Amino acid sequence: MKTKKHILSNSEIIRDIPRACSDEVAAVEFLEKQRWGNSPACVKCGSVNVYKMTDAKTGERNSRFLWRCHDCKEQYTVRIGTIYEESRIPLRHWCYAFWRAATSKKGVSALELKRQCQISYRSALFLMNRIRFAMAPDSDSPRLKGIVEADEMYVGARRPRYPGISPKGRGTTNKVPVFCAVERGGQLRRRVIPDVTGHTLRSALHEEVDRQARLITDEYPRYKAIGRDFASHGTVCHSTKEYVRGDIHTNTVESTHALVKRGIVGIYHNVSREYLHRYLWQFDFMWNHREMNDGERTIAAIQAAEGKRLMYREPIEQQREYTKNREQEGNQQVEPF
Ligand SMILES: [Zn+2]
Repeated sequence: MKTKKHILSNSEIIRDIPRACSDEVAAVEFLEKQRWGNSPACVKCGSVNVYKMTDAKTGERNSRFLWRCHDCKEQYTVRIGTIYEESRIPLRHWCYAFWRAATSKKGVSALELKRQCQISYRSALFLMNRIRFAMAPDSDSPRLKGIVEADEMYVGARRPRYPGISPKGRGTTNKVPVFCAVERGGQLRRRVIPDVTGHTLRSALHEEVDRQARLITDEYPRYKAIGRDFASHGTVCHSTKEYVRGDIHTNTVESTHALVKRGIVGIYHNVSREYLHRYLWQFDFMWNHREMNDGERTIAAIQAAEGKRLMYREPIEQQREYTKNREQEGNQQVEPF
């Protein structure tokens, strides 16, 4: 995780965020302060020899919140080069969406945002998708160390296809397996996986967990061989109702599963396989920044958004899906984008 200097003190953040959510001028100034601190630099040439443009008649700040550079003569706003650049959605709604997304444990649905900001469902979806993308983990995050708990969970239909017949848990066929590894007292890594074969679990563990770590899992036989790749491996035997033995338990990873399940079922009702990873980014961001207060976490999300704009790609099939579903506003089963 990148550690960036927080420009505002905690009390200032808590004071400024609600104002930024309701007033466009306050929102622009808030985001300018987050981005540039006290020396706003030109986005084209980096010069700090810049000024706020004013309206010739009133002498007030320009209605488009433009800045101009004395050196390269370019005009720009705080949106340029950020995820806000691609939309005309007022910045106060961005502030509100960031605030909500970074402070609600179970997540925020696009429908909720649509009602609260009085914007279209399409705009609300756009906001939430970009914000979730901003919350996505950095690809260069270090591997987990120390004591690491690993487990899978299954997300999907609430009822089995054939009650009493369809297998549950690892035997399920209509749910999506999600792998999770949590460092005790540290960060977590979570990903949607195609299956729960030894090969898949091994490559996930190798990518996310340091070989010097002590691995803790349940008694699933496939973890037994994989466990030998790590410094040590403890297993807890859930089938014999054993849950804790010394430091051997998977309570941490199971509590993160529970948070995701409550969010997916309670807020989003259900999420399809293609889009599930985006929702997980948000839950993981919350967990990995749990020691920050609400204001700090909001700022961390806003700062993470910077620089991610160019990496965002809408896959073609998702755009098609979006067009197909456009008429069915309010349908949360499949969230386009
Ligand atoms: Zn310039």
